Amino acid sequence: MNDFRIGHGYDVHRLTEGRRLILGGVWVPWEQGLLGHSDADVLTHAVMDALLGAAGLGDIGKHFPDTDPAYAGADSLKLLEHVVKLLGDNGLAVSNVDATILAQRPKLASHIPGMRDNLARAMGIESSQVNVKATTEEGLGFTGSGEGMAAHAVALIEKM
Ligand code: MG
Repeated sequence: MNDFRIGHGYDVHRLTEGRRLILGGVWVPWEQGLLGHSDADVLTHAVMDALLGAAGLGDIGKHFPDTDPAYAGADSLKLLEHVVKLLGDNGLAVSNVDATILAQRPKLASHIPGMRDNLARAMGIESSQVNVKATTEEGLGFTGSGEGMAAHAVALIEKM
């Protein structure tokens, strides 16, 4: 019988001037970027937390503390690769991931295929096992005002 585990991840980063906007490892040309210790890739962070949650391995703050200079400006896709390796060390494989970016602007639809491919490559799975969606929150709250972006992710993993 298959032994599946499910996990959820959620992350938020503030938008600010003078930073690149990186989502799922894609550089999205935009007047602002996300503020953070690493590359602040809010989508990839939510995916990592979903995987760690499913594996019962805590969260990214535990594995990659933002007080550690080693992670300054870090490429979050590299951190995702590390998370998937941790799962592998625990006999766990990724079945699929589904994620949603919450952002008022810019339009993200044309960038989503690249995000799927990047996330899939970092996790060693097919793009068809990764889904990425984007939605606005209808101008409401901190995403609506453009103060920040958020991302949710759910992951299903399987004990091998
Ligand atoms: Mg984060």
